[in-house]
Amino acid sequence: MGGGIVGCALAAFLAEDGARVRLYEREHLAAGASGRNSGLLQHPMDEALSGVYAASAALYEELGHGFELPAEAVGVLVVSEDAAALEPTRADLAARFPELRAEALDPATLHTAEPVLAEGLAAFRLDTGLPVPPAAATQAFAARARAAGAELIEGVAATPVVAAGRATGVRSASGEAPAGAVVVAAGPWTSAVVDPTGAWRPIAPLWGVNVELRLAQPPRHAVEEGGIQDLQHADGGLANLFSLVTRDGVSALGSTFLTEQPEPTEVAPALLERGARFVPELGGTQVVSVRACARPMSADGRPLLGPLADGLFVAAGHGPWGISLGPGSARLVADAVLGRPAEIPAELAAARFQPAA
Ligand SMILES: Cc1cc2nc3c(=O)[nH]c(=O)nc-3n(C[C@H](O)[C@H](O)[C@H](O)COP(=O)(O)OP(=O)(O)OC[C@H]3O[C@@H](n4cnc5c(N)ncnc54)[C@H](O)[C@@H]3O)c2cc1C
Repeated sequence: MGGGIVGCALAAFLAEDGARVRLYEREHLAAGASGRNSGLLQHPMDEALSGVYAASAALYEELGHGFELPAEAVGVLVVSEDAAALEPTRADLAARFPELRAEALDPATLHTAEPVLAEGLAAFRLDTGLPVPPAAATQAFAARARAAGAELIEGVAATPVVAAGRATGVRSASGEAPAGAVVVAAGPWTSAVVDPTGAWRPIAPLWGVNVELRLAQPPRHAVEEGGIQDLQHADGGLANLFSLVTRDGVSALGSTFLTEQPEPTEVAPALLERGARFVPELGGTQVVSVRACARPMSADGRPLLGPLADGLFVAAGHGPWGISLGPGSARLVADAVLGRPAEIPAELAAARFQPAA
């Protein structure tokens, strides 16, 4: 259940490996964050997730079905108004992830690299970041799932049927259907789908607003305010962090980190105002559209993957990194569903959060 990036990739992998697959999406495919994100495939800066990220990158290389991967990374510029606060972050990332080549840029180099940035900012560059249209990966995996024979049902909400600790099927408005295995990939709503009593709540929504606009001179890099790598919890205390991702002349300006669902048009002016401190041109730019969506934030900042009970699997909780990690996670969970040897790292296993008996 769930037609986001994770559910659609799972449907594709399971169907291609011979399973009979039916995916339930309560709205339409990519209705949640999978269709409304900033569209950047980027390293998640967490050792526990590096393997899943590498697996996802390989899966994106061979995805096809209308999905086009940029030839090379644009680079992520991490910027701050406070140079002293940024340097420890850079040094930490440089030590932990040498492959990202976290490189500090002096003011002259920064100005040459990105003349549209405000004067006086501190910045370092990370060797990562492939911009893609927000819904493109989900749509491509959906097309691949259909081509492999999966049935994708839109406009129908579903919940697992669990009897005596075992998932035996799926319940929807049209009744109950038996199933050999049930996978919940319902993003931020996963906790409620698994346990409608509310006792089990390891995943909660963290709402983000993105403003889409066309800049006369968009930055060549993806630009992010320092701080996202510290975002481990749904109550991480960050209400607003600047980010700007551009692809094909359209820029996504982000974003908020809110526990309550915001009204996007009310939040947009504050995002533009904050963004103009980093990219002054944002102050006078015409907005194309504004959208809100929820990150599925887990209690420890890492996804929940694999079995939770007999026949019941979870694939959710990717927080701000679901597009970057979704396919790799889906592959791991598909293998678990198919009874292949488990390779899900213990720190990502869904069962680390045990539902109430
Ligand atoms: C503003 C913002 C920007 C982001 N930018 C990036 C980025 O640049 N790069 C990146 O890697 N990640 C980014 N993310 C994170 C990423 O978008 C998410 O982690 C990812 O989309 C989650 O995918 P999912 O499939 O787990 O969940 P979702 O996309 O939320 O999909 C879950 C689906 O389940 C459906 N559903 C819910 N309940 C039921 C039910 N009972 N029955 C059937 N269906 C149900 C929902 O309708 C929904 O379509 C961003 C997130 C936000 C909010």
